[in-house]
Amino acid sequence: MTSETPPRIHRQDYTPPPFLVDSVELDVHFNAGEVLVNSQLQLRRNPQAALAADADPATPLPPLQLDGQGLETIAISVDGSVLGPEQYHCSDSLLTIANPPDTLTLQTQVRIDADHNSSLSGLYRSKDGYFTQCEAQGFRRITWFPDRPDIMSRYQVTLHADKASLPVLLANGNPVGSGDEGPDRHWAKWEDPFVKPCYLFALVAARLEVLRDAFTTSSGRSVQLAVFVEPGKLDQCAHAMDALKRAMRWDEEVFDLECDLDHYMIVTVGDFNMGAMENKGLNVFNTKYVLARADTATDADYQNIDRVVAHEYFHNWTGNRVTCRDWFQLSLKEGLTVYRDQEFGADMHSRAVTRIREVRALRAKCAPCAPCSSPKMPARWRIRCVPTRTSKSTTSTPAPFTTRAPKWCA
Ligand SMILES: [Zn+2]
Repeated sequence: MTSETPPRIHRQDYTPPPFLVDSVELDVHFNAGEVLVNSQLQLRRNPQAALAADADPATPLPPLQLDGQGLETIAISVDGSVLGPEQYHCSDSLLTIANPPDTLTLQTQVRIDADHNSSLSGLYRSKDGYFTQCEAQGFRRITWFPDRPDIMSRYQVTLHADKASLPVLLANGNPVGSGDEGPDRHWAKWEDPFVKPCYLFALVAARLEVLRDAFTTSSGRSVQLAVFVEPGKLDQCAHAMDALKRAMRWDEEVFDLECDLDHYMIVTVGDFNMGAMENKGLNVFNTKYVLARADTATDADYQNIDRVVAHEYFHNWTGNRVTCRDWFQLSLKEGLTVYRDQEFGADMHSRAVTRIREVRALRAKCAPCAPCSSPKMPARWRIRCVPTRTSKSTTSTPAPFTTRAPKWCA
């Protein structure tokens, strides 16, 4: 653990990314005691950034810089040629290639110690397998990448793992292939047809059981639904599946928004610092917002599941398709989506009771006099704390005064 104070990030310092990433191909191998990640990025100079640099011909074009954290770098190549040590600089957090071509294919291979990643950010091991959390800056713990929300890319992911211990292999998008690799291992390939920022990336390699269903959209398309839970908990996820289908129908009827995906999956994990995460087509949930059984759950438990399942589904349109320019804009996607899940809750249950509950939360968390209040859009932030397996927070983010104060401070 470092004792250095993280630098402050100022909103006014925003500049467009020097390079854009059009496509990402990841090949992830889960081996005993390590995870190997082979990455292939198609990059090109960002015309917006190049225009700014062209204004003064004396200004050299910026280098290619990628973020990383906890990566053991094995190999780096550009356009098929392995780079020698003099052609790049690699620190603990930054990979710099000084004079890259304007368009290039960057391949890297890194090793990750996911088994000992206790931050619950990036790729980490939990009881039943491996899970990811990439918002806000977790993707840099998986591979070298310009880890910022204003870079939208298409992703193709292939997972390789032991069949017996990690039988379920999931990533964003649609399954496009799978098979065996010898007697003990298997692979699965996923393609996400939509561009997305890297904070919405997700993968899962775990031992899980699944409840499947389907939803027919207003235009007649069938969306395959799945709720994955730890073994022995299948009897507790029927309400979450029902909430998902009600949210999908409600969004069509109230906002005229139809699901654009062929597959929509929810995965539950006990070790999770947030309530849930809206990864494109592959939401990851804390178990407490999915599992409920009539003999143990309260009315409030059922209502919370309704709201959180709906919230993450609604993000598919409000947030995931639009993204943020930078993390100062977090309140835009969260505020709008919380408003939508509040309306859903009001329509599903009591509008008056829902509003009273929201106002109480606003007063406790977001009013200027509240102990944890923070600006809707601060002028600066820095990472205040690293989540651990022992800390808990939720995505209960009141609109319109929304913020994720537990993660950031001004
Ligand atoms: Zn949200």
